[in-house]
Parts: sequence; structure tokens; C-alpha cells
Amino acid sequence: MCDDWDDNAPIEMPQGNYENRPICSQNFSNSNFRAARGNGRNNERNTRFQRNNRYNNSYGNGENSSNRSDGLYRNNRFKENKTSWGNSSNMTENDQTETINVPSKFIGRIIGRGGSKINELQSDSGAKIQVTKDIIGDDTVVKIFGNQDSIDKAKSLINSLTTDTTEMVRINSNPPPLQEEKKVVDWKTLLKECEEAEQAEWDKYPQIKKQFYVEHPEVTDLTEEEVQLFRQENNNIVVDRTFKKENSLPIPKPCPKFIHAFFNYPEILSEIEKVGFQTPTPIQAQAWPVLLSGEDLIGIAQTGTGKTLAFLLPALIHIDGQPGNRSERGGPAVLVMAPTRELALQIDKEVKKYYYRGITSVCVYGGGNRREQVKTVTDGVDIVIATPGRLNDLYEAGHLNVKTVTYVVLDEADRMLDMGFEPQIRKVMYAIRPTRQTVMTSATWPPGVRRLADSYMNDPIQVYVGSLDLAATHTVTQIIEMMPDDDEIKLQTLMDFVRNMSPDQKMIVFCGKKSRADEISSELVLAGIDCQSIHGNREQSDREQALIDIANGTVKILIATDVASRGLDIDDITHVLNYDFPKNIEEYVHRVGRTGRAGKLGESISYFTRNDWGQAKDLINILEEAQQEIPHELHNMAERYTVWKEKKDSSGRGTGRGRGGFGGRRW
Ligand code: AMP
Repeated sequence: MCDDWDDNAPIEMPQGNYENRPICSQNFSNSNFRAARGNGRNNERNTRFQRNNRYNNSYGNGENSSNRSDGLYRNNRFKENKTSWGNSSNMTENDQTETINVPSKFIGRIIGRGGSKINELQSDSGAKIQVTKDIIGDDTVVKIFGNQDSIDKAKSLINSLTTDTTEMVRINSNPPPLQEEKKVVDWKTLLKECEEAEQAEWDKYPQIKKQFYVEHPEVTDLTEEEVQLFRQENNNIVVDRTFKKENSLPIPKPCPKFIHAFFNYPEILSEIEKVGFQTPTPIQAQAWPVLLSGEDLIGIAQTGTGKTLAFLLPALIHIDGQPGNRSERGGPAVLVMAPTRELALQIDKEVKKYYYRGITSVCVYGGGNRREQVKTVTDGVDIVIATPGRLNDLYEAGHLNVKTVTYVVLDEADRMLDMGFEPQIRKVMYAIRPTRQTVMTSATWPPGVRRLADSYMNDPIQVYVGSLDLAATHTVTQIIEMMPDDDEIKLQTLMDFVRNMSPDQKMIVFCGKKSRADEISSELVLAGIDCQSIHGNREQSDREQALIDIANGTVKILIATDVASRGLDIDDITHVLNYDFPKNIEEYVHRVGRTGRAGKLGESISYFTRNDWGQAKDLINILEEAQQEIPHELHNMAERYTVWKEKKDSSGRGTGRGRGGFGGRRW
């Protein structure tokens, strides 16, 4: 009898705690049980074993359910009646077994991890639940044993379990058709909506006025030939639209005289008169009519060309010409970004020279007193001049409102990019209204600057006044001293020069590294010679003090690196000494231009070593142009470098051909 059902039948489920229920000896006909018995396990152990076996048999071992049912009948505890889930039409009144069909996908839920759920269901209902291996279509046959109440309860629990999960499973197992999933994003509409929303936001601000230019009759009368001649004679001005577009307006003619640009602004004219300038510089002559017309402008010009005034005077007119009350604007109208603190301060100094209708400016830069800067920008000013880092910092902290800005200047854009300020620039530019007027100055025109212009400027006009401000070098006697590449000798030569300086002389010594600037300062101080130094590693207050000391004559020697030298505008520098020759010829011209200013004469001395031979040719061009003496050795170096370079390039090309062409096969 026992053999008949023990192998397959689930053990009788106790109503509640089956752990303590006596086990029918017949159960031990199961081989597993035999093993257990053979091992001399006690009843309790066997009980546990049997329980495991029950699960194995019920839903793990693929046993025949009808046998199990038979066993149960014989055990006379349960009677079986087959029914389907939710359909008890076949049930008879006395049946104590119910068979239900459960969608197979939920069986895992009924069993639970390691049988935990089925245990819980059995314990909660008092019925015994058997998941069989019988499959009917998508369903699995589940048997429930017990009295009617417990069976009903078990069914209800199973029902709720599978109903809840049904939703869940349906979501997971019935994904929406592919077409629904692959929603096509209508970027065009989204973009349009975005632009409209942005526009609605900007509409809350007063309209921008950008056109302030009226062509002077004398300018109107200039013929095309006269315009060309003027440009040619004025540092070879080249002017054009940067990105060729259809329907662009014609480029305004230059203004050879101050009155041509500002005849409608007598207060500006009187300010220019006060500072005593005679004529507009080339960049000013061409930039003023462009900027006063409201056009975006790119000025390819270096420090010393008058570029600051080129964008500043139109900015003053622009500020005053904006609709609405200036004091109620809530933020600046003009924002000038500059790469270094020195340049920012230099621009601020220039702005403060010109009084126009009470327009105020503030300079904010890293290293300056942040709290004070926050106060000044929040107090309300018309022009903010800033280094990108500090600007971004104040903007992100919410201290500076840039939504009011209608005129932006990116001064020395190439330098700002070189110094890694692109992310800060972009962040701030993004927050400024797109209809603003934008000005950019740059000494060079590399792809990064071009990209910036493309992103933020509207059909800009580019004014090019020659990559080098050669005119500045015409007032300077340029001496080239050929040197061995030996620091001892260089330093000794410098010391000899310094000791022979007369009291009325002032000199800037340029070197390539901050550490070298410190070394030279120390040597001079040790030799009892007062000097100051300015480089990126010095505190802002020390840098400012250095500039004050050299400007007022407290010291006669300033040791500087290139980064810090930008914007240095000290009238009475008599000498520039290039202790290390600069890395490019533009920088040479820039350095040399620190002397021979304001109509004075100056002298530059450059130590030139064989390591600098790559610059020899360009330097010769500059010296020739300025009719300076050229050491014979410099010519030799230039020739040797040309030969070496050609050789190097041709061997480079050879390698290139080798790699890419027929000769490139290595096998
Ligand atoms: P910038 O190129 O802006 O650094 O200007 C260099 C120097 O030229 C500054 O000291 C200006 O004050 C001066 N400057 C600007 N415009 C003129 C001008 N039209 N004539 C003479 N000097 C000028």
C-alpha cells in the first residue's frame, strides 16, 4: 500500500504545524527516506526530510499527480475533484480536494523562493497546496487539499496573489508594440517651442536699441577708391564679413576723424579732446561706424592699437541709448571679459578716463576681495569688466544678473581660450540675451576663436589691422645680443647692464618661466638692487603693488612673465630686456611695445641663443621693417634653421608616404 503512493504523494499536510505531526511509516518507502532511515536519523529529522521530499515531489520532481491523489484517497483524508481556476461547476458537495489551473507564469510566485510562499499560503489557509507538473495549455494544475473553508481560503489567497501580480507581469511581459515604443521626437516643434518660451522670457525685458550711427557727410562723400586708400595707409586695414551670408548689409566706410564718428555726441568728442588724441587709430576708424550701427565686430588687433577705446566709446553711447531708466535696470548693460586681472584693471582704468552721463564701471577678478566685488556688482553698475573665472563665480552664486546685458565684449579671446576659460565664457554667454551686440578682440584667429565667434556672434564684421603692431616697434631701438645658452652668462650680462643703468631709466625684464622671474629677482635683491616682479604665482595684491612701484618709480626694474605683462601700460619704461626670447614673434612685438610709448623713444635688448633659432627668420623681418641692425649670426641661424626644417619636413613627408602609400608595406 505504502509503495503505491509514498514515492509520489505529498505528505499529508497538518492543519497548521505539520512539524510536529506524526509521520506515517508508509512514507519511508521513498528511497530518500530510506536513506534517512538507514542513517539512523530520528523522526524529527525524517519529518524535515520528508517535507523537503514533498516539495521535490510536488513541484520539482515531475511526479505523477494522479498517483499522489490516489495516495491521498487511500489515506482517506482528502477527496479530489478536478476543477478549473474560478470554475467550480464540476465540484460535488463532499469533495475535499480541489484542482485549480493557474497560469504557469505565476507558479513561481505561488511557490516562492525555496518554497517560502507556498508554506506561507498553506499556513495561512490551513489547506495543503500542491503544484503539480500537469500543464494544460498555458496553465499549471494546482491541487488544494483540506476542508472547504481552508480550500476556499487557499484559493482566495492564490487568487489575490496572481491577480496582483497579473498587473505586474502584464506590464513586464507584454511590452507595447514596437511602433508605440519607438516614439519619434519632433525636434523641430520642440525647438520652436523652446525658442518661443525663451523669447517670451526675453520679452519681459526692455527692447534693445543698437543703431546709433549716422554717417557724416564727409564720410558719405568718400569714394570707394578713397576708402581703399585710407585702409591701405592705415596699417592695411582689412574688413569683411567673417561668415559670408546672403543679404548682409554693406560694411560701413571708415571714419578718418573723431568728428565723423561722434558728431552727434559732443560730450564724447570733448572727452577725446581732453585726453589729447589727434586721430583715431586704424582699428577705431573702422570699428566705430560698425559698432555704432549695431553690428557685431571681431577686431583682430593687439594691445597698443587702441582697441579698448574702439569698443568702449560705442559702449557708452549704447548704454545711454537703451530705453528705460538706467537705475531700474537691475544689472549691467555692458559686460567685458578679459583674460587677466592686469588687462581687466587696464580696461577699467581706460573706462574711468572718460566721463559720459554718469556711467559707472566695476572690475571683478579672481584674487580681488570677493565680498567687496559682490557688493559693487549688486549695488548696480553699467559696465562690468571681469576675468571669466570670477565672473562665472559671481554669476553662478546669483550675485550678478547678466540678463540685463545688451553689449558684450570678449577681449583677447585667443588668450582666454589659451588659458582654458572656454567653459566659463560659454556658460555666461548662454545666459545673456541672444539679441545682444557682441564684440570680440583677438591678436590671432585660431579655430577656437572662430568657433566662439560662430557660436555667439550674429553675422560679424571682421576688422583686421595687421597681426603685428609694427608701428610700436618703430620708436624702439632693438638690440639683439647673441648668447650661449648658459644661465650663468645670461645672468652676469643682465647684472652688468643693471649696474650701468642711469637713475632716469626704467626697465622691464621678460622671462619665460615664473621660477626664472623669482630667481632673477632674488639675485638682484642679493646684489642690493631693488626690483619688483609680476607673474601668475604672485598674490593679486603683490602684483598690483609691483605695478604701482614701477609706475611711480619706487623701483626701476620689473621682472615679468608674458601672462602678467598683458595690458602693462607704463609711459616711461625706457628699456625692455628679453632675458628669455619669447616663444612667438607676436609676443616679441608685444613686449618691445612696452617701451617707446606715448611719443617717447625706447630700447629693447634681447638675449638670443641657439635654442631660439626657430624665431630667427621672423625676427629678421621685424628688424628689417624697423630698419634695425641685424647681427650676422642671426642671418646664419635663420639659414641653418631653414635648411634643417626643409630636411625635417621632407623626411616627415617621406615617412608619411611610407605609411600611407605603396612603399608603406612592411611585410
Ligand atoms: P589699447 O590698445 O586699448 O591697449 O590702447 C593702448 C594705448 O593707446 C592706451 O593708453 C590708449 O589710451 C591709447 N590710445 C587709444 N586711442 C588712441 C588714439 N586714438 N590716439 C592715441 N592714443 C590712443
